[in-house]
Amino acid sequence: MQRRGVRKIRNRETNIISYVFVVLFLVMIVYLGYFSVVVAPSIEDSVYNQRIEREPVIEVRRGSIYSSDGAVLAQTVLSEDSTEEVRQYPFGSLFAQTVGMARGGGSGLEGGTDEYLTRSTSGVDVADPMSGDIYEEQYGDSVYTTLDESLQQAAVNQMGDQKGAMVVMDVSTGKILAMVSNPSYDPNTASENMQDWLNLSSTDSVLVNRATQGLYPPGSTFKMVTALAYLQQNPDTWSDFSYNCTGELTVDGATTVRCTHAHGKVNFEMAIADSCNCAFSLIGLSLDPTAYRDTVLSLGFNQDLDIGIENSTPTFLLDATSSKADVMRTSFGQGSTSITPLENCMIAATIANGGVEMKPYLIDHVVDSDGNILETFSPEVYNTPMTEEQAQLLGKFMRSVVTKGTGGGVNVQGYTCAVKTGSAQYDDSNPNAVRAWTIGFAPYENPQIAFAVVLEDNATESTPSVRVVRDFLYDYFSITASRS
Ligand SMILES: [Zn+2]
Repeated sequence: MQRRGVRKIRNRETNIISYVFVVLFLVMIVYLGYFSVVVAPSIEDSVYNQRIEREPVIEVRRGSIYSSDGAVLAQTVLSEDSTEEVRQYPFGSLFAQTVGMARGGGSGLEGGTDEYLTRSTSGVDVADPMSGDIYEEQYGDSVYTTLDESLQQAAVNQMGDQKGAMVVMDVSTGKILAMVSNPSYDPNTASENMQDWLNLSSTDSVLVNRATQGLYPPGSTFKMVTALAYLQQNPDTWSDFSYNCTGELTVDGATTVRCTHAHGKVNFEMAIADSCNCAFSLIGLSLDPTAYRDTVLSLGFNQDLDIGIENSTPTFLLDATSSKADVMRTSFGQGSTSITPLENCMIAATIANGGVEMKPYLIDHVVDSDGNILETFSPEVYNTPMTEEQAQLLGKFMRSVVTKGTGGGVNVQGYTCAVKTGSAQYDDSNPNAVRAWTIGFAPYENPQIAFAVVLEDNATESTPSVRVVRDFLYDYFSITASRS
């Protein structure tokens, strides 16, 4: 009995002590929470907290951006006195808008790949020069792009100082090999010039990437899209198409469409090769508008596309309620349709790739600071908007543009290509205000690259863009010959 009583007392004491501990523990938890949320920040910020001075601030040193063959496009280096990190762009203006700038949240790939560049998967131990403390210095991961330094250089050279944009894509993968937007800027001089750049009007802006953000009327390059819709809607009878072009066509006594000159009798192929607006107005009017719209949308219009950098969505507004005048103008690339050079390049690439539209991409793989590959991006099919047979026909028609149509000037001796030209009027009151387009692919027999060029100023016709393509292809073929 006695022993039991003692035990009872002891149990009660134990219980009291337990309760006290539980209460103390709860108070501690509550205080810890209060401390970390309310008190700690004010201590960290307090001027009496000397740890601020002694403990090195550990930051990830931003990773690098490389071309596909390992040339440094952007890197972080220490300033001469080793006191601050400087973002450096060894190629100056060459990759300007595509690589972008790290400042202000980042633009171009600097913005689009920020999560990799600032994410560290490796580091090295270094001694702090002030305190001697050892801490880990971390290096961000680096990004290898799909951009080809030599082709980028060739594209920039051939664009010269002409305002506009150019995109070059690998046909079978969708890799973007070159991307030019003029006028350009040197990101190394951003701190001095940013205010001036921001002051430029939107039409003169150097910061906008015209290749992905520029929305232009497609002009006659859009005839390839209308032609696809016609092939789809007239699979057995398209080759019966025939039209006698007198240089202008008036429908319902109201809407008149003009060609550069009277093309005479054209079949379907020559309507494309000669770029006959009158023939295409009739082709457009003959189409089922809903199916036509579906064809256009299947190529990527009205659809956001994530390529890791800023880009605009190409728009197509025509539908079953549109007027005849709108249908006619839209069929040959005027009207309210707008397209980016990237989207136009995708259309050419799809035709070259047997009807399979590849998703364009700029990031090939991500490595850590020791060069170990962490992630690799593979080609992705975006859509299959046409059959292989339709793609082959459209490719053949684009070849005819070169051999007997408006694109004869693109010929590079010893090599073949296929193109579609376009001159899109953008100011109704000024017939000379046109954007000059050329899209296409090369070589014709075994397509490797697709391209799109648009020039904004001083282009009364498509000829200047044809010249850019011809000179670029000359460089392209010599570069690839030297590599094999
Ligand atoms: Zn005509």
